[in-house]
Amino acid sequence: MPAQRPKPRFHVNRASGLLAAARQVASPNHDARPGGARPELIVIHCISLPPGEFGGPWIDRLFTNRLEPTLHPYFEEIAALRVSAHLLVRRDGELVQYVPFHRRAWHAGESHWRGRERCNDFSIGIELEGTDDGAYTTAQYRRLAASIRALCRAYPTLSPARLAGHSEIAPGRKTDPGPGFDRARLAAWLAPRDYNSRGKRHA
Ligand SMILES: [Zn+2]
Repeated sequence: MPAQRPKPRFHVNRASGLLAAARQVASPNHDARPGGARPELIVIHCISLPPGEFGGPWIDRLFTNRLEPTLHPYFEEIAALRVSAHLLVRRDGELVQYVPFHRRAWHAGESHWRGRERCNDFSIGIELEGTDDGAYTTAQYRRLAASIRALCRAYPTLSPARLAGHSEIAPGRKTDPGPGFDRARLAAWLAPRDYNSRGKRHA
């Protein structure tokens, strides 16, 4: 029998704010949600470093303030930023968590949603490794959906309907996750579990 990898555990510990299935990389870029705000919105972003290239340690470095500005002209532009997201979904579906979900990560900037400003205060930011004009992988949709389901179980103030792209909450300023982000495809992965035509259960 081939050795099997342990199945990732899609469980959020409410006390620690951590997702068991994610590799943990602690970012210093977070603070308390004002007034004890709860997560009510999930914001989808995309990122790739350098732009258009996948893999490498650069996103971890950016979110931990350790991006070396001399390594790439684009790194020089962004190395001084103090930014973070709660979660990153890499091209192969690997999950990386930078900030506990009950803390405020610094991902949305100036933004508004349903008449409320400063979306960082009440949102969870999820980055997909990708570009504004590219497509995302099946592994990403699958792991993104599993993460969203786990978040909705942990925080009843969230729901799959409370989801927005960065471009929707910062129109005219941001364009991510771009037209290649297929909301219908995500919705299909988020739908209640069922059986597909081959009789196999969706993960
Ligand atoms: Zn964004």
